[in-house]
Amino acid sequence: MRLGRLLLAALLGLVLVGSLTTAAHADPRWVFYSKDKTHYQSPWFKGTHRIMLPFGCTKAPYYSPDPRCSARRGFHHGIDVAMPCGTPLYAGRGLRVVSNASLGPAYGAHPLRLRNRTLGWDLVIGHTRRVYVREGQRVKRGTMFARASDSGAPDGCHLHFEQRAIGGGLSTAVWPRALLRLTRPSR
Ligand SMILES: [Zn+2]
Repeated sequence: MRLGRLLLAALLGLVLVGSLTTAAHADPRWVFYSKDKTHYQSPWFKGTHRIMLPFGCTKAPYYSPDPRCSARRGFHHGIDVAMPCGTPLYAGRGLRVVSNASLGPAYGAHPLRLRNRTLGWDLVIGHTRRVYVREGQRVKRGTMFARASDSGAPDGCHLHFEQRAIGGGLSTAVWPRALLRLTRPSR
């Protein structure tokens, strides 16, 4: 069956191209401290991406020992989602830009602190580089407002999402899973 063979060849070609483009987008510096291999989608970013480092006690080496964690492990206050440098970041909800000032080198040079007073959260996003909004600006849901980068991230391009209480410090940080609305893409 010539047609069958042709179709098979075309299919194989598609699979090959697909795997090549995936490999081209992977960052060789990424290290995944999670068994979850799901590529999640979210209204906050373009494409589907893996969680690199979840919230909570971690054996990742960048954090100083925390009394909440055993074996001198550190505590990660947000979740890291691995994504290629330049991946667009969208406002998953309406929000106001509270700050674009430095939070120390761990968050990169241009972190964002965003707020939704009605829903009762602040969202700190680290490792953004190109930021298209300014402090005080109101941003509508769906607006592209920054891009992912490796600013302050030796472990490759990713975004750090950290949910805090309004005006709260690190100790108020909680799992941002509901806020980020991470879901498995439907096939
Ligand atoms: Zn992080």
